[in-house]
Amino acid sequence: MDLGIAGKRALVCASSKGLGLGCAEALAGAGVDLVMNARGAEALEESADRIRAEYGVDVQTVACDVTTPEGQAQVIEAAQGVDILVNNAGGPPPGMWMDWDREDFIKALDANMLTPIAFMKALMPGMMDKGWGRVVNITSQSVRAPIAVLGLSNSARTGLTGYVAGTSRQVAPYGVTINNLLPGIHATDRADSLDSGVAQQKGISIDEARAERAATIPARRYGTRQEFGAACAFLCSQHAGFIVGQNILLDGGATNLTM
Ligand code: NAP
Repeated sequence: MDLGIAGKRALVCASSKGLGLGCAEALAGAGVDLVMNARGAEALEESADRIRAEYGVDVQTVACDVTTPEGQAQVIEAAQGVDILVNNAGGPPPGMWMDWDREDFIKALDANMLTPIAFMKALMPGMMDKGWGRVVNITSQSVRAPIAVLGLSNSARTGLTGYVAGTSRQVAPYGVTINNLLPGIHATDRADSLDSGVAQQKGISIDEARAERAATIPARRYGTRQEFGAACAFLCSQHAGFIVGQNILLDGGATNLTM
């Protein structure tokens, strides 16, 4: 399917690895020029080089922490005039509800709620002026069904979801859509680190922890960054202009819901 977005330009935050990289690759595959970001410059340059070589699109890189005001300013400067924004950042650490204090919540809110809001505020007016834009926020299945050890993620991402529900209806008249993609378990470094925590806690190997978790997913496997990226690219396509303010689960059926 021709996604109809060749020649457009996208900012994909936190995209040297994992789900962000999957989104960057899929957009590049549709002919979209990119601004890519991550903190670590080495992996970022490696991924950017590979995408340039494979897809022939223009890729600009900004190595910085998107959760800081300085990082946001750097990225926003490089991304002026983008047509597509994919918001992403690392997830908050796991823990127990009674252990988190105010500072932990502020950090999680900064990373997973206020950072995407800052990018939307800065970059959506340009899209509205052009009468076309696409925003996809990478959130989590924890928005639909809480994950006990990820209370910081449950809280911050639900806050972002509320913001998107209201804001998406206000920008839709200008041809700009905002939607959220909710990953269940995908095979990325983040999943590895959560699995190694479980392995340590239970005294089992990481492969055993992974197999146990895969067995709880109706699809009996983890998702891939390529599948995730393809869904993101579709939401950014010409065909998705009538999809507004939605929260789309990509979880292999793991969240047991009727709707
Ligand atoms: P990942 O494999 O660990 O990749 C994270 C990417 O983001 C890397 O490129 C990393 O590069 C970059 N990054 C992290 N923090 C950053 C920051 N502050 N500023 C700029 N770049 C940053 O993670 P993932 O699995 O793709 O997860 C992406 C998001 O989806 C996370 O919020 C995660 O919690 C959420 N999620 C993932 C899953 C899953 O199963 N994978 C499930 C539910 C939700 P640097 O480290 O070099 O910055």
